[in-house]
Amino acid sequence: MQYEVRVVRSRRKTLAVQIENSGTVTVRAPLRLPQAAIDTFLREHQDWIALHLQKAALREKQPPFSPEEIRALAARATRELPPLCARYAGQMGVRYSRVTIRAQHTRWGSCSRKGNLNFNCLLMLCPLEVREYVVVHELCHLKEMNHSPRFWQEVKNVLPGYEAARRWLKTEGQRLIERLPE
Ligand SMILES: [Zn+2]
Repeated sequence: MQYEVRVVRSRRKTLAVQIENSGTVTVRAPLRLPQAAIDTFLREHQDWIALHLQKAALREKQPPFSPEEIRALAARATRELPPLCARYAGQMGVRYSRVTIRAQHTRWGSCSRKGNLNFNCLLMLCPLEVREYVVVHELCHLKEMNHSPRFWQEVKNVLPGYEAARRWLKTEGQRLIERLPE
């Protein structure tokens, strides 16, 4: 991977590397540290640098969602997710209390001990199978409040192919989450 490195020397004692949003790699180095030491440091951190350059490139290609976009997604989710929950809850024989929609950085869904379900509005940008998987996952927590093998078996009983949806969330889904404003 080719990239430009900008070295900024100052009265600091340690080396640090930073990736700017523009994709520039900046190394902060002590005043008199030999260039060879900086080169070694960069070699040792090349995987980290490559990963963060990729992320910066991705951010550049895909602008963050605007507040209007998020509102529109939340409105759609509020219309479309409750019927999906009701359908699967009926099929699985479980009862939940309330469905809430949020724009969240950390999770696709959650289920409280009181049986309240919470879903990420970005689910509306996921394929239907992925949306179904997240709904079924949370509904399964009404039976098993953990991620034990028994829990996963419950998920599998309803959606035998759920693992593809899980993988999708980890890669493509993560890209969507990165587009949420800070
Ligand atoms: Zn879970």
